Amino acid sequence: MNIKLFNTMSRKVETFKPIKQGEVSIYTCGPTVYHFAHIGNLRTYVSQDIMKRMFLANGYKVLHIMNITDVGHLTSDADDGEDKMEKGSLREGKSVWDIASFYTNQFLMDVKDLNILPPTKYTPATSYIKEQIELVQQLESLGFTYEIKDDGIYYDTSKFKDYGKLGGQSLDELKGGARVAFSSGKRNITDFALWKFSPKNQKRQMEWDSPWGVGFPGWHIECSAMCLKEIGDRLDIHSGGVDHIKIHHTNEIAQVEPVINHNWVNYWVHMEFLNDLSGKMSKSKGDFLTLSLLKDKGYSPIVYRYFLLLASYRTQLNFSFELLDGAKKSYENIIKKVADIIMNANDAFDDDVYLSWKNRILEAVSDDLNTPLAIVILQELLKSNVNFSIKFKLIEFFDDVLGLQFIENANALLNIEVPENIKNLAELRWQAKLDKDYQKADLLKKEIIDAGFNVEDKKDSYEIKKL
Ligand code: AMP
Ligand code: ZN
Repeated sequence: MNIKLFNTMSRKVETFKPIKQGEVSIYTCGPTVYHFAHIGNLRTYVSQDIMKRMFLANGYKVLHIMNITDVGHLTSDADDGEDKMEKGSLREGKSVWDIASFYTNQFLMDVKDLNILPPTKYTPATSYIKEQIELVQQLESLGFTYEIKDDGIYYDTSKFKDYGKLGGQSLDELKGGARVAFSSGKRNITDFALWKFSPKNQKRQMEWDSPWGVGFPGWHIECSAMCLKEIGDRLDIHSGGVDHIKIHHTNEIAQVEPVINHNWVNYWVHMEFLNDLSGKMSKSKGDFLTLSLLKDKGYSPIVYRYFLLLASYRTQLNFSFELLDGAKKSYENIIKKVADIIMNANDAFDDDVYLSWKNRILEAVSDDLNTPLAIVILQELLKSNVNFSIKFKLIEFFDDVLGLQFIENANALLNIEVPENIKNLAELRWQAKLDKDYQKADLLKKEIIDAGFNVEDKKDSYEIKKL
C-alpha cells in the first residue's frame, strides 16, 4: 500500500520510502514526568500510535523509541526559570527521583488505558547522561559551543548554516522576530544550553560530573543522544507535538547534523494540539484535564480515544464534555452493533468481499492517517448488507488499526454480569441521592467507577453499565 505522510520539513504530503525495505524506525518525544500527562499530551501519543499501527498493518517491522524526560529542564524555552522536576518535588514534598518514578508509572497506566502500543524501548534521560556528555564534547571539538561563566555550555546557532530549516525560518528571521531582549551573555537569541552548571553553594537533587563541572544536561540534547544511540545516524521518522517544531526539534537537528555530516531524519511528523475553551491545553496553566479525571466522570479512556480519532491529527481539536458525550453515544452504538455481529457471525466467508473492504480501510489510514475517513467506512460497513462473518473479520481489522477495542467491549456487553456488591453500592447510592446526601452519593459513585462500572440516572431509576 502507498503510505503518505505530511513531512514538516518539506511542508508536503509525501510518499513514504523506508531506509530499509519493510522496516521503519520511529523516535517520538515522550513525557516530562513532573506531573500527570494532560489529555492534550495524550492526543499526541494516540496520533503517534495510529501511525505505528498503520505501519504494522502494512506489514512493516517497527523500531520505536520513546524517551522519558526525567531530568529537570527549565520551565522556559530560554533556558532560565524554574526546573520542572524540582518544582514538582517542592509541590509534593518528595525527592525528584520519587516524582519521576511516580509520574512515569502514571504515564504507563495512561498508555495502557488508551490501548497505545508500548514502544520497543522507553529511554529515560537519566540513563543516558554519558551519551549526552559525549555528544556535547563532539560539538565542542567541532567549535559549536561556548561557555557562559557560572551558567553553562551553550550552542552557538550562528555556526550552523541550516539553523531553523525545520520551522522554515532563517537565523536572521529568527533574530528579527525575537520580542524580548536576551540577557546573560548568549551570542544569539536562538542559542541554547547544552550543559547547565549547578548553582554555586547549592546542591541540586539531580546533578552529574562533567568535563565542564557539576551540572545537568540541557533539554534538547537528551533526545538527540538517545536517538543516535538507540537507532543510529539515519532515522525514518521523528515525531512530536507541533510546539516542538520551532525550538526542540530545530535544536535537535542543529546538535546532530554537524556531527554526522548528512541529513539525519527523513520524515518529521508533527501532531496538532488539543485545545480547551481558553486555547491550547497546557500544564503551566495549572488547571488541566487528565485521563483519571475523565474516568472519575464516568468516561472510559477508549471513548476518549474514539473522540480523538474523529478528527485528523493535523487539525486542532477543541475539547468539551458535550463533544465527548456525543462521541460516547456514537461509540456505544457501534458496540451494540458489533455485539449483534458477534452473535450472528456464522455465515459463509468471502475473501474477495473481505479484501476489498480491508483495502479501503488500510488505504484511509495510510493516507496521512485519515482516521475520520476510516470511521466513516466503519459506519458504512455496519449499515451495509455484507454478511456477519465478513463484518466480524473486518471489525477485527479495525481493532488492529484503530485500537478501539470494539470486539473486547462488545464481548463485555454480551457477558455483562453485574456483581452483587456493585448492585448493592448502586442501591445505596440511589438511597443517598433520595436522602439528598450528595457527598455520600458521589463517594459511592466513585467506588462503583473504580470497580469498572458506572451508574447512569434515568428519571425515576438508574442503570448500571460496564465502563
Ligand atoms: P511534555 O510532557 O510537555 O514534554 O509534552 C509531551 C508531548 O505532548 C509533546 O510531544 C508535546 O508536543 C505534546 N503536547 C503538549 N501540549 C499539547 C496539546 N495541548 N495538545 C496536543 N499535544 C500536546
Ligand atoms: Zn524530544
